[in-house]
Amino acid sequence: MSDSPSCPLCEGRQTLVVSNRDRDGRALSNRLCTSCGLVFIDPQPTRAELDQWYAQSYRLDYKGVIEPRPRHVLRAGRVALDRLTRIRPLLTGHPRALDVGCGGGEMLYLLTHLGGARAEGLEPNEGYARHARERLGLPVHQGFVERSREITGGYDLITIHHVLEHLAQPRMAMDILSDWLRPGGHLVVEVPNVEATCQAPAHTFHRAHLTTWGLPTLERLGLQSGLRPVSAQVSADGGNIEVVFTRDERFRLPAPDLADHTAGYATQVGEILRGHTPARHYLSAAALRRLGSRWRAQVGERLDARRLREPRMILDALVKAARASRWPAPAPVPAPDNPTGAAPR
Ligand SMILES: [Zn+2]
Repeated sequence: MSDSPSCPLCEGRQTLVVSNRDRDGRALSNRLCTSCGLVFIDPQPTRAELDQWYAQSYRLDYKGVIEPRPRHVLRAGRVALDRLTRIRPLLTGHPRALDVGCGGGEMLYLLTHLGGARAEGLEPNEGYARHARERLGLPVHQGFVERSREITGGYDLITIHHVLEHLAQPRMAMDILSDWLRPGGHLVVEVPNVEATCQAPAHTFHRAHLTTWGLPTLERLGLQSGLRPVSAQVSADGGNIEVVFTRDERFRLPAPDLADHTAGYATQVGEILRGHTPARHYLSAAALRRLGSRWRAQVGERLDARRLREPRMILDALVKAARASRWPAPAPVPAPDNPTGAAPR
């Protein structure tokens, strides 16, 4: 136990160092807050470092590209289709939607062309925002959640997949997202799961993930911003968690109630991280299954992407396949001056 910077969720200062290396073997300290169970990087990068990285070099560092290649579009498109399928009940009535951290625009494209949403995107990376605008014809604002003057709010639905863990001020970001929703609107958040044991122990922590969440900590984050959790799920491999919140000001909980929400969770997270040892991991069937399925997915992506070169063709093929199986064609999108969607006379 040592003194440390305050926890980005509960501001507690009692922490335990749970890792000293990132997944590439470089020095990186991650601490577990023993009050709430959030894991966070210490020291945090500066605002200027983060801004520069996400606007310019992040995708290049991660994938070696400035714009997504066809196989990236296909992979992201398939993931987006799964995500869209899960939130299908939220897509009735052509919701006004915002996809935060929309990347190359795959989710945004499917939200629009399959889900019938009137959707916009927000993306900090220049190359990916331009790709989504120019190659897919999507309305994408370039910028950051914490400082985006172009976003007016009043959304029925906001989606934010694998973004929150990259933000230096998650509480501030959640307050802003809550403000951008109309009362009763929904926020869908997906992040990596701090309880995940599907990856090798040495691959657990990434230097871009400033915070690592579990269901109780993520729900607590929403509860302090007037967001009530309405559903929560863990992915089949345990690697990701998704919580759907609704904006409900009665649930802007006071501090003691927030603390109750994560009571005992830090102990649980500590035990999971300590128990996730290399020997146990490599003996587990999950590791073998993961290797096999990753290889199959990569081969399949290369083959399909070779056939479909253009990002729009790839996503249209996904839309078509989805409609043929489980999605009916959406009704026409109502014009802004015709909000009921009734046929014009
Ligand atoms: Zn904490």
